[in-house]
Amino acid sequence: MAEKVIIVGGGMSGLLAANQLADDFEVEVYEQKLHYHKTCSGILSHAKDSLIRISSKYIQNEIDTVRIHSPDNNFVEFKFRQPDAILKRDEFLDGLANSAEKKGAIVNMGRRFDIANADAKHIVGADGASSNVARHFSMFGQRTFFMGQKAIVQYANDNIVEVWPFSGGFGWIVPHNRHEAEIGTMSYQKDIGVFDRFCSARNIIAKEKEAQLIPLHNPDVRTFKDTGKQKIYLIGDAATAVKATTGGSIVQSLVMAKSLKESMLFKKDFDRLWKSKIGRELWLHLKLRRILDSFSDKDMNSLIREVNEAGIKELLEKESRDYPSRFLFKILMRKPSLLKYVPKMLA
Ligand SMILES: Cc1cc2nc3c(=O)[nH]c(=O)nc-3n(C[C@H](O)[C@H](O)[C@H](O)COP(=O)(O)OP(=O)(O)OC[C@H]3O[C@@H](n4cnc5c(N)ncnc54)[C@H](O)[C@@H]3O)c2cc1C
Repeated sequence: MAEKVIIVGGGMSGLLAANQLADDFEVEVYEQKLHYHKTCSGILSHAKDSLIRISSKYIQNEIDTVRIHSPDNNFVEFKFRQPDAILKRDEFLDGLANSAEKKGAIVNMGRRFDIANADAKHIVGADGASSNVARHFSMFGQRTFFMGQKAIVQYANDNIVEVWPFSGGFGWIVPHNRHEAEIGTMSYQKDIGVFDRFCSARNIIAKEKEAQLIPLHNPDVRTFKDTGKQKIYLIGDAATAVKATTGGSIVQSLVMAKSLKESMLFKKDFDRLWKSKIGRELWLHLKLRRILDSFSDKDMNSLIREVNEAGIKELLEKESRDYPSRFLFKILMRKPSLLKYVPKMLA
């Protein structure tokens, strides 16, 4: 008889995991909300292509150009060889829930799961940044949070993602089409007024703002525990598997969902398994975040100028930002003056 798996949380990571596990396990997903909330921008780099095939009906836009602005109104523009995809996130989640159900999973929408009643052999905490599963099993660890805020606005644009880094976060505009875009900010929790200031500086009126906490990655958070009676796994935001530079985590949830299946089927240590695939990348994002957090406006102006110089941009345009280990060393070799930032990274 198939072993039972309870997945607490039917967001992105929970439903990706349900799809991976439903063929081999008796899977039940619990999602406390009746409808998905719309906080995520749904941007995916081409790193997704080796992990999942996404039907074009779930893609609302593809964008190959990203412009990063400096405080002195200069900018650097990257034209990626392979475009980013912007997901129709809610439709994609519906599609994941349907396909998991077709494989035999039970997806309970609008049902909060009380972890004290968990009777399954495998419990998967996919319950987000403030994970109760993590708290209940003493796996929460130390967490630092960003607040992600966003709204959909009417905005004429050239189909370019625009990013404005600032001290302790960044703002963005991500086009959905030539007339509509998402505007958003990610910043440390204490500064919740940052989104309104970011919008008003651009004369944009955002009516329906949404907000959600984003945990910065903590490599010390244990994501697997065997209590003797039950095996406990954390995935997605519950596991802090988030790129600390951008706050993105969908590609990372895909990697974790696949690792979860491999670990359950072949009795491998889940924590080690997924970290062997992307642990180093998340660590590098964390170190890059530390550098960015230490930057003054002058540092940012000078970095944008240096990146604009020939040789570096091309490296970044070729590789996915999900795997910084593939380009960081090459960049430092090509532009040794950037080594001056390394001590900040190691501090
Ligand atoms: C503004 C913003 C923009 C973003 N943009 C991007 C992006 O462009 N690209 C990218 O890759 N990532 C992005 N992210 C990050 C990404 O959206 C999240 O990291 C991702 O959604 C996390 O998925 P998750 O399933 O782990 O957690 P969540 O989406 O938080 O889902 C957890 C679910 O668990 C449910 N739950 C909690 N407790 C219980 C319980 N006891 N019983 C039942 N259900 C429960 C919650 O209702 C929730 O639906 C963005 C995030 C924000 C905030």
